[in-house]
Amino acid sequence: MSDPAARLRGAGLRATRSRLAILGLLGELGGHRSADELVERSRSRGHPIARATVYHVLQSLERAGLVLDADAGPGRTLYESAADRHHHFVCQDCGRIVDVPCLAGAKPCLTLVLPGVVVEEAQVIFRGLCASCTSGRAAVAPGRARRAAG
Ligand SMILES: [Zn+2]
Ligand SMILES: [Zn+2]
Repeated sequence: MSDPAARLRGAGLRATRSRLAILGLLGELGGHRSADELVERSRSRGHPIARATVYHVLQSLERAGLVLDADAGPGRTLYESAADRHHHFVCQDCGRIVDVPCLAGAKPCLTLVLPGVVVEEAQVIFRGLCASCTSGRAAVAPGRARRAAG
């Protein structure tokens, strides 16, 4: 399922050139990428894709479940190619994003008590300090850093 064309077909989407390019780029680069970065990468590879098209394609890939968006704070929607729904840890110091495996092992990870509501999935964002930022601050306030990560 790592072949972009096969993944698109499996999700019932037509394998257009821009969908193939963006899904391929996300898989190849790994991690979490902004739409701007995808525009930049496709241009630098000699296959420019218009910004509006990149957004449009990301939306359709997201609806089809081939791409996840990782909320990493204001003005910074990041996308990733992912098979498994997972959560994210965001470092408030350096902005590093770390994937966190599903906490419960099954959707939805969390349930809530809200009358009449059916929860299908939950995406949790953990905020705090990453390992390298924690070690940089360890001498100053180790206890504070640990609590911030919870
Ligand atoms: Zn950090
Ligand atoms: Zn992720």
